[in-house]
Amino acid sequence: MFRPVGSKVNFPQFEEKILSFWRSKKVFARSVDARQGGQRFVLYEGPPTANGSPGIHHVLSRVFKDVVPRYKAMKGFYTPRIAGWDTHGLPVELEVEKELGLASKKDIEDFGIARFNARCRESVFGYLKEWNALTERIGFWVDLDNAYVTMDNNYIESVWWAIKQMWDKELIYQGYKVTPHCPRCGTSLSSHEVALGYQDDTEDPSIYIKFKVSEKSPGKLPSDKPAYLLAWTTTPWTLPGNTALAVAPEAEYVVVEVENEYLILASARQEAAGLGEAPVIARVKGADLQDLVYEPLFNPHNFGVERQRFQESSALKSQEADKKLTYRVIATDFVSMEDGTGIVHIAPAYGEVDYQAGEKNSLDFVHTVDLQGKITGTYPFAGKFVKEADKDILDDLKSRNLLFRSEKIRHTYPFCWRCETPLLYYAKQTWYIRTTAVKDELIARNDEINWYPEHIKYGRFGDWLQNNVDWAFSRERYWGTPLPVWRCESCNSYECVGGIEELEKKPGFSGFRQPIDLHRPFVDELTFSCSKCGGVMKRLPEVIDCWFDSGAMPIAQHHYPFDNDSLLEDGRFPADYISEAVDQTRGWFYSLHAISTLLFNRICFSNVICLGHVLDAKGEKMSKAKGNVVEPWAIINNYGADALRWYFFTATAPGNVRRFSEEAVAEVTRRFFLTLWNVYSFFVTYANIDQFTPGSEKVSLEPPELDRWIISELNQLTGDVGSALDNYNPTEAGRRLEGFVNVLSNWYVRRSRRRFWKSESDADKLAAYTTLYQCLVTLSKLLAPFTPFLAEELYQNLVGSVFPEAPESVHLADFPVADETKIDKQLMSDIQLAMKVSSLGRAARSQAGIKVRQPLAKVIVVVTSRSEGEALKKLEAQLLEELNVKGLEVVTSKGKLHKQADLVVTTEGGYTVAIDVKFSPELKAEGMAREIVRRLQAMRRSAGFDIADHITTYYQGDDYIRGVMADFADYIKQETLSQKLIDGVPEEGVFSERQRIGGYDILLGVKRLG
Ligand SMILES: [Zn+2]
Ligand SMILES: [Zn+2]
Repeated sequence: MFRPVGSKVNFPQFEEKILSFWRSKKVFARSVDARQGGQRFVLYEGPPTANGSPGIHHVLSRVFKDVVPRYKAMKGFYTPRIAGWDTHGLPVELEVEKELGLASKKDIEDFGIARFNARCRESVFGYLKEWNALTERIGFWVDLDNAYVTMDNNYIESVWWAIKQMWDKELIYQGYKVTPHCPRCGTSLSSHEVALGYQDDTEDPSIYIKFKVSEKSPGKLPSDKPAYLLAWTTTPWTLPGNTALAVAPEAEYVVVEVENEYLILASARQEAAGLGEAPVIARVKGADLQDLVYEPLFNPHNFGVERQRFQESSALKSQEADKKLTYRVIATDFVSMEDGTGIVHIAPAYGEVDYQAGEKNSLDFVHTVDLQGKITGTYPFAGKFVKEADKDILDDLKSRNLLFRSEKIRHTYPFCWRCETPLLYYAKQTWYIRTTAVKDELIARNDEINWYPEHIKYGRFGDWLQNNVDWAFSRERYWGTPLPVWRCESCNSYECVGGIEELEKKPGFSGFRQPIDLHRPFVDELTFSCSKCGGVMKRLPEVIDCWFDSGAMPIAQHHYPFDNDSLLEDGRFPADYISEAVDQTRGWFYSLHAISTLLFNRICFSNVICLGHVLDAKGEKMSKAKGNVVEPWAIINNYGADALRWYFFTATAPGNVRRFSEEAVAEVTRRFFLTLWNVYSFFVTYANIDQFTPGSEKVSLEPPELDRWIISELNQLTGDVGSALDNYNPTEAGRRLEGFVNVLSNWYVRRSRRRFWKSESDADKLAAYTTLYQCLVTLSKLLAPFTPFLAEELYQNLVGSVFPEAPESVHLADFPVADETKIDKQLMSDIQLAMKVSSLGRAARSQAGIKVRQPLAKVIVVVTSRSEGEALKKLEAQLLEELNVKGLEVVTSKGKLHKQADLVVTTEGGYTVAIDVKFSPELKAEGMAREIVRRLQAMRRSAGFDIADHITTYYQGDDYIRGVMADFADYIKQETLSQKLIDGVPEEGVFSERQRIGGYDILLGVKRLG
C-alpha cells in the first residue's frame, strides 16, 4: 500500500517535512560522499555579503547554482559544493558608518580604526542566520558549515601571495592618474565598479562660457573688438581648474559678432549654439587658432591654489606666482563636432583625456578640489561640495559677463554604486594592476569558456576585455585586505610581501601581536628594515578592492599555495560551472578571469550561466524606496520553494530579464504542480484500491499501444532532459518536463481512466498500473534537480514504501538513462496528430455550443498525406472516444466539406477538422444518459462516498427519462457502481438532489451499500 494521497495539497507544508528528513538523514553530505572516486564536478560559489537580507534575485542565482550540481551528482560526479561569504569592502563599512552615525573618513579615524573594524567584523554576519535559513529552505545544497570567509587570515594570506606574484612580474604599479573617485567614500573605484553605477537622466548644467582672448595674442583674428573663445561644459566646478582650450586643427571655425564682441567657435556648431543668425566676420582653420592665448577664468594665484606644470617625465613641478597668467589653445584629435562648440575646456586634474592632454602638451595643472569633493583655496565658493558650487560659479561668471548661455541637460552620469554620490574624475595616486599587459591572454582564454547565453562571450564580456584598462585596485579605506606593500621612510623604496612567514623573516621585523590579525590597524604596526638603506619600512595605508578578494576565491578558499598545493592539478581548478547575474561580467566574472589569467594564464571556469535581472511585474527595478521589493519568504510560504524554483527555471531563458510577480508563481503551481499532483493522487488512489504492487508480476502481454506510446515519450524525455542539462539549459529541460506531464495527464491518464476503473483485474489493467508507475518514478528522478522536494515526495511514497533496498532518497538515486529501443518516433508523431485532431474537434464542438457528453455522428479530418490518414485510422477508436463521435471520415481535400450541411469546421496549423453537429433522437438519449452519469458522480462526491463504494441509485422523472434510464441501464450502473437503479422516490435518509437536464426535471438519489 502507498501512503494515501489526497487531491488537495499544501506544498510548503510537505516541503518542511522533507527538509527535516534531509537534515536528519544527512542526505546532502551522503549524496556527495557516495560519489567519491567519481569524476569531480566543481561549482564555485560567488560569495554574497551577509550583512543584509537576501532578496529574490539571490534566490534566482542560488537555484541555478543548485540545479546543475544536483544533476551531476545523480550522474555519478563527485561534487562537493562549498559556500563562501564576501566580508570586506565598502558595503560593510557603509552599513557600520550609518549605524554609528559617522559621516566621513575623519569621523572614522576619530572613532578609531581598531574599533571601527571590530564593528565591521561583527556586522558582516548580521544576516547570516537568515541567509543560511533561506539557502536551506530553497533547497540549495551547499556546504554552509565549511564556508570560506574572505576576512580569514588564511584567506588574506593567499590574496597577498597572489598580489606578490603579480608584483614580481612587475604587473603592479602606482600611477598618478585620473580615477573615478567617490568623494563621500573617499576612495577610487575600479572601472568595473563605475560600470555598476551609471544613472540615466541625471540633470546637470549645460553652459557656454566665454574665454577672453588676450591682447597679447598673435594670429589672424580681427582685433578691433574684444574676442572670446566659446567653450561648453556640464561640470562648471572644473572651470577653476581650466588650463587649456582644445580645437580640431582641420575643422573650420568662425568668428561671429554678437553685441559688439567677437565669439569664436566651430562653424559646424554655430547653429546648435544658437548663433545661426550672427554675422560671420571671419572663417579660419582650427590650426590657425593653435597657440592663441587667453585669460584664465580664475587665476589660481589669486585664490591661494598651487599651479603645477607637467614636465617631460610626466612629473608635476610647482610654478611661480604669475599675476598676468595666460593659457593657450592646443590642437588635439579628440574634439567632437557632435556637441559643444568645437572648443573643448581642458582641466587636466579632472578627466582622463584632459590629463593625457596635459602630459602631452606640458600644460599647467591646477587642483582646486579636495578628496571630499569640496572646493579648496579662497574662491568665493570655497568649502562647498562641487555640485553645490556649480551655481555660485555660474553667478560669478555671469557677473563678469563671461557666461554666454546657461541651460540644463539630462544625460547619463556615473554615481558611486554603493552610496550614490556623483563620482568625480580626479587625478591622484592609485595602485594599479597592469591587466592591459595580459590583454591578449585575457581574450584568448575567454575563447575557452562556454557562456550561456552565448552572446555574452564576445558581446558584453568580450567587449569588456577588448576595452580593457588597468585595474585600479587600491582603496583608501579601512575594512579590507590590506595592500601588502611597505615603503621605506628613508629612501622611498617599496617591497611587496607575499605571506606571513616571509614577513616574519624580514630583517628587523617587529610589531606582531597575538592573536595575529592581518587587518588594519594591526598590520599597520608591522615594520621591518629596508633592504637597500636599512631605514624603517612601513605599510602603505591602502586596502584593496574587495572584488579582488572574491576573484581570488579559487585559490584563497583553500589557502593555496600554503596548503593544498596540488590544487591546480587535482581537479579543483578550474571550476566546471559558475552562475551569477549578468552585471558580474564586469564584477566577479571579470575578477575571477583576470586573476587566474594573471597568475596562471588559465581559465578558472569552463561554463557559466549568466542570469538576467529580476524586475517587478511592471518591469521596474526593485528598490526599497519604491516599495516594490518582493520578499522571498512570502512567496515560499505561500507556494513552496519548488514552485519558485520551477518558475525561475522555466518562465524565461536564463539570460533574459524577468518580470517577477506572485501571480506568475501561482500560475506555475496551477499549470504544472497541480497537474502532476492530480496524476500522482489518481495513481495512488486506484493502485491502493486494486492493491497494485509494483514489480510483483511481470506483464507478459505485448503492451497496449497507449502504454508503448507513453513509455516511448518517457524515454525520449529522459534523453532530452539529460542532454539539455549537459548543455547547461535547465529552461529547455524544464519545458520538456512540463510538456510530458501535460500529455501524461491529458492524454495517457485520460485515455486510460477506464482501464483503471474497470472492475476486473486483468493484464491490461496491470499494464496500465505498471506503465503509469514507471512514468511517475522516472519523473521523480528527472525532476529531482529542479524540484527536489516534490521529487522526494513522489519517490518516498512510490519507491521508498515498496522497495526498502532502494536508495533512501531520490537524491541518492542515479539519474535515469533513456532506453533508445523503447522510442518509437512514428507512434509518437501519430499520437501527436491524434491529439491535435482531438483538440481541433473539441474546439469545433465548443464553437457549436455542444457539450462533449453529447455523442455526435461523425468527425471529418482533412489530412495532408496518406500516411496521416493511415495513422488516424489506426487510432480511430481512441479518437472516436475522445471526441465522443460515432464515425471518423478521412478526406484529402477541403473541397469535400462544402457539400455537407451541419458541419462546424476548425482549422489550425495546416489541419482542418469538421464535426457533424446534427444529432438523432438516439444520440440525444445517449447524451442524456451521460449527463445523468455525470450528475450521479458529482452526487457521490457530495455525499462523501469513497470512489470504490457500491451504491443503489434512485430516480424519478417523466416517460422520456424513464426510457433513457431503461435503455442505458447497464452503462449507468457500470459508470456509477450502482447495483440497482430504482424508479421511485428515494428512501428516507438517502442523499438526493433535484436536477434539471436539457429541459427535463429529474429527482436523483444515491445510497451507499454495505
Ligand atoms: Zn561612495
Ligand atoms: Zn630604504
